[in-house]
Formats: sequence, structure tokens, C-alpha cells
Amino acid sequence: MKITRIITHVLEAPIENSFAFSQAWVDKRVGLVVEIETDSGLIGWGDGYGPPFALASVIDRYYAPRLIGRSPLAGDAIWEELYNALRDHGQRGVPVQALSALDIALWDLRGKALGQPVHVLMGGPIRDSVRGYATGLYRRSSTPAENRALLQAEAEGYLDAGFTAMKTKVGFGFRDDIELVEMLRDTIGPEIELFVDANHGCDLVQAKKLALAMEPLDIGWFEEPVEPEDLEGYAELRRTTSIPIAGGECSFTRHDFRRILEARAMDILQPDTASCGGLTEAKRIADMAWTHGARYQPHVWGTGIGLAAAMQLLAVLPTTTPAFGAHAPLLEYDSTPHPFRQDLLVEPIRVADGTAHVPQGPGLGVEVRRDVLERWRVR
Ligand SMILES: [Mg+2]
Repeated sequence: MKITRIITHVLEAPIENSFAFSQAWVDKRVGLVVEIETDSGLIGWGDGYGPPFALASVIDRYYAPRLIGRSPLAGDAIWEELYNALRDHGQRGVPVQALSALDIALWDLRGKALGQPVHVLMGGPIRDSVRGYATGLYRRSSTPAENRALLQAEAEGYLDAGFTAMKTKVGFGFRDDIELVEMLRDTIGPEIELFVDANHGCDLVQAKKLALAMEPLDIGWFEEPVEPEDLEGYAELRRTTSIPIAGGECSFTRHDFRRILEARAMDILQPDTASCGGLTEAKRIADMAWTHGARYQPHVWGTGIGLAAAMQLLAVLPTTTPAFGAHAPLLEYDSTPHPFRQDLLVEPIRVADGTAHVPQGPGLGVEVRRDVLERWRVR
């Protein structure tokens, strides 16, 4: 089997009701889907998390010519070759995100060629279903009181849908943040897990003050409190609060995560499979996290293809530590408006009664709808 063609699909869709995290209002959803064709007729699908036009350009110009004529079975060799091709100019960011998309597509192809789901080839399964948490509760109004009313109803909707965990956004200023988090804890009660994410929207002083105020509210983790470059800031905050500190969606490859682990900067690592270096690198990072006693909680923010890749990884992430009361990883289930995220799959991956099932078909275990791909394709 040889690779014959690589196609990049840049997808864009406007959304009706925009929403905000600490850095920006979101008014459209974008995605980069990569398709690898082979002379066997098999096709591999990948998803890249990053600026899609930039990812497409790196893939088209620099990576694709190196892949034509190669066997997709040579996964590790291809990973190293592509990483090394742009190592001098980008050990993180766009070049690694573009590599991630291709790596996921190559895993999909290998699984299809061998007739096995990716998680079996990665050493699994450890589990065939995972508990999902709802990622949502973004700011939907710039008036705090109006926003709280909207988010109260949204949180109740997640409870009605059977979610047992959910995540909201902070980083909008102390009073706005704490009043929102208090309202949410009040709304969902003590049994439901609640996480907060600042998207590095706080400095260390703000993060410490917010963490201290949130301590009585049983917060499962405080995600990206400060800038991803500031590992010392992470480590200092981690020592000053009992709330677990999470991060890593803006970090890349085992090299970044080695530094995070050595600095003991985070309790929970959150690499994005479609950004950190693909499934190949995610598994390496997961093994490192396990060795260092850190939890691994994949970040997910892509199309249904990226979601499928995350599910394959979740099937093989270790339970830390094996015991009756062991912690198992959760699926981050993006519940925000997105016109093509789920529609892209013939059989979408859903969380029902709080749980999602790992696709069991060959490769990523999902089938892509061409009509949806064409409908939102802008390049
Ligand atoms: Mg986040």
C-alpha cells in the first residue's frame, strides 16, 4: 500500500449566537480535515487543531511531497521525518499541528489496512466507554447578570441531558468569575463535577486570588490559569492552592511536556491529540504523565474526526492508579454551537446518560460524510 494523494479541506461556518472565552468572541467555527488516499483504495482521515489555512499550507507545501509513494504503515519513521523536516523552524505550533492531522490520518489508514480499531494497535483496550463532561458555559452576554441567567439555564440543560461533569470559563475579572462559579455550583449541586478554564486569561496575582476564593466550591480543576510559557507560575500556583492545576492545550510534543513534568507545574496534562503531535505523540506523552504521577485529560476542540481520535486515545489511557477507586480519564465533549462538528460523521459520537462509547470499527471507526465536507469547504 502506497500513499498517492493528500487533500486538505479548510472548513468554515458562521454561527448564529456568538460566545466568548477570556481572549475573544467566537463567531464562526473552523476546521482542517486532511484526507490521505492510497493505491489500495483505502482513505485515511485526520483533523488538525490550529489556524486551518496555515495548517493546510504546511501540509500541501512541505509534508505532502514527502509522503507520496510511502507506505502508511511506517508511522514512527514518517513522524520523525516530518518533524525533523521543519524542526529548525518550528518545534511547536503550526508545524506540529499540521503533523498531528497527518499522523491521525495515518493511524486511521493503518487500522483500516489491518482491520482493527486504532486503540487495539495502540495496545488497548483498557476501556470501551468513557464519561463525558460538557464543555460549554461560555460567556454569552457582556452583561454579567444576563449572562448568569443564560448559563444557569444552560447548566440545567446539561443536567437534564445526563452529564455528571461540566466546565465553564473564567478570566473575565474576579467579581464576574466568582459570582458565575458560585451560581453554577449552586445550580448543579454538590454531586456534579465542575471545572473552570481561564484560557491563560489571568496573571499570577489574579489566578491566586480566584483559586483561593473558589476553594470552598469543590472545583475539579483550574485549567490554563496563566500563560503557557510561565511554567514557574503554574508551579507556584499549584503549591498555593488545593485545586488541581491543569493545562497543556497550547503545548506541543513530548519535549514541552517533559519540561512541564520536570517543573511539576501541573496535576493534569491536557494535550490536544490534533495539535500536540497526533496519536503517536499523545501516547508517548500519556506514558510520561503516568510515570510522573500526573493525570492525562485530553483536550478536544475539533470536528467529529478529532473527537474520534480522542476516543481512540481515551480507550488506552491508563487508569491511575489501578484500584477500586481509581481515576479514569474523561472525554471533553464540546457542547458549543458548531454547524459541522457532528454532522461530518455518518454516525456521530455522542454522550448519552453521561457516557460515550469508543468506536469499534477499523481505524478511527468513523465514516465521513462527503456532502457535509463539501458544504462547509472554503478551500
Ligand atoms: Mg481549555
